[in-house]
Amino acid sequence: MYFIGNWKMYGDFSSIKILKSINSSINAVTKKKDKIIFCVPYTLLNFFSLKFKKSKIAIGAQNCHHLENGPFTGFVSSKMIKNTGAKYVILGHSESRNLGEKNKLINLKIKSAIKNNLTVIYCIGETLKEKRNKDTNKVLSKQIKIGLKNIKNIKNIIISYEPVWSIGTGIIPKIKDLKKTITFIKSKFSKKYKNKVKIIYGGSVNPKTISTFRNIKDINGFLIGGASQSKKKFIDIIRNYYK
Ligand code: PEP
Repeated sequence: MYFIGNWKMYGDFSSIKILKSINSSINAVTKKKDKIIFCVPYTLLNFFSLKFKKSKIAIGAQNCHHLENGPFTGFVSSKMIKNTGAKYVILGHSESRNLGEKNKLINLKIKSAIKNNLTVIYCIGETLKEKRNKDTNKVLSKQIKIGLKNIKNIKNIIISYEPVWSIGTGIIPKIKDLKKTITFIKSKFSKKYKNKVKIIYGGSVNPKTISTFRNIKDINGFLIGGASQSKKKFIDIIRNYYK
């Protein structure tokens, strides 16, 4: 199972304390195969990657430019992220899409990240308006079709289904709806990948809501925003998942 923290635009050098504390408790609550990843601000990538190099915790970024170098003031490329020691990158998060990022551009970013040997956490999901209009499947299809266009190997891609209306709201999908959506996402992949594609869920995962997700066997893990900035909450999520 993947337990991935998304720190968003929070954290500074002193936040190493939180990760050190999580690191000291992690073996007691995880299984050997579990992957623990923290996607942190660019400023912390190198420091955290070096500190946790020999631990169960891997480090990731939260976005990247689609080109490797160039006159793009203020941006950071996947090649630069790789150079910090980070291994993962979140792409297509709704908070980036909200600022105007489109599927076509995200596709170029995904290609660049894969070329630079990063594993991509590709976020897809519908807004509340799209859900109310019963457009969820249409939106997801487009995000998968365009976002993953011409990407033959999905080995280094984790699909994170994040209904936008669930992010930071405390509201989670009905289990039957979530099961249907996960099955739908799988159906968008070719026969070869249908049973290999890794799909995680994100949106208001916390120590209480996690128990709801325990029985969905097709979920390969969780992207955890707000609750990943607290050692207690993050550890309790994993503990309660395996209860
Ligand atoms: C996220 O930002 O990816 C997320 C899932 O946030 P939260 O857990 O706070 O809903």
